[in-house]
Amino acid sequence: MSKRVINIAAVPGDGIGPEVIDAGMEVLNAVAKRDGGFVIKSERFDWGSERYLKKGDFMPENGLETLKAFDSILFGSAGDPRVPDHITLWGLRLKICQTLDQYANVRPARLLPGIEGPLKGVTSKELDWVIVRENSEGEYAGVGGRVHQSLAEEVGMDVAVFTRTGVERIQRFALELARSRPRKKLTLVTKSNAQRHGMVFWDSVFEQIKGDYPDVETDKMLVDAMTTRMVLKPETIDTVVATNLHADVLSDLAAALTGSLGIAPTGNLRPEKDAPSMFEPIHGSAFDIMGKGIANPLGTFWSAAMLLEHEGELDAAKRLMKAIERVTGEGKHLPRDLGGTATSREVTDAVLEAIQQSNE
Ligand code: ATP
Repeated sequence: MSKRVINIAAVPGDGIGPEVIDAGMEVLNAVAKRDGGFVIKSERFDWGSERYLKKGDFMPENGLETLKAFDSILFGSAGDPRVPDHITLWGLRLKICQTLDQYANVRPARLLPGIEGPLKGVTSKELDWVIVRENSEGEYAGVGGRVHQSLAEEVGMDVAVFTRTGVERIQRFALELARSRPRKKLTLVTKSNAQRHGMVFWDSVFEQIKGDYPDVETDKMLVDAMTTRMVLKPETIDTVVATNLHADVLSDLAAALTGSLGIAPTGNLRPEKDAPSMFEPIHGSAFDIMGKGIANPLGTFWSAAMLLEHEGELDAAKRLMKAIERVTGEGKHLPRDLGGTATSREVTDAVLEAIQQSNE
């Protein structure tokens, strides 16, 4: 019988993106080989700021059509000091997420074995969260404008857009996700005391639908109070759902609390699976360490494990995650941002070896 093929588009992007994505593809191929049930086919696309500076666009005109033919996308980072951040973000990453309607951004935050976070005495028992971010509208809908530029009366506006379709689908997604986790707990985060239209709307949609999930324990928090709770009472949190902006901020805090930006993964999911989903490390292009061979590839490896899980290759996803945890747990090959001295190559080799040695 011929093996299942998973078609992956690798889009390394800028800065350390190519370093971590090449390592990520190596690890994905190794786990496919070890698992034996499927093969990875991939194509690498040199889209990003370098291309923009030369040709005026981040990807070819038919780039999005090209991506639609793949099962999943492994993305590196977008950002270059020579290009304003909002141009890069809208020209590549957001363009992909929005056009393919990858509306559920999922960000696990867990302290891996051997990693000490900044919170004293907190282990993976207390800090094991998933933050679900609305990824298609809200504060990042791109609606707004600037008028009277450079004049005294200049105005800049961004309008947050919340639709019933958008709010309900992300909240139902989060409720389902919470239901699939052992604690079955979901916190809704908004700011409905100060923002009395869109945020009150979020709260009311939640009130209307949460009854469909009687087995999920729910609570509600204002986003400012949530930052305090994440630091002071991490054990009271499990799954979190919030708007595009709020969850963006909370998940960077979560990444810092789990040891380093270099380790945190994310998936931009199209849950219906009628278009590819995109997986990427949370960190950016980190130009300060580009080309030095010291970038931490673990965030990409964890994102690759999420990719496999989304593709339904649950055993392979578990195998990869266990290999990552073995390497962090042993502590012999930790990258610099996690307090070690290992290069990207050494970390990758250690994970490859752990995949080889895994015996489930
Ligand atoms: P961007 O503008 O694309 O967001 P940035 O450099 O401003 O990029 P990040 O890339 O998120 O922001 O990184 C902030 C800092 O964290 C970097 O300067 C780098 O030192 C460190 N860092 C980020 N990712 C990694 C990684 N994978 N390995 C090691 N250090 C990292």
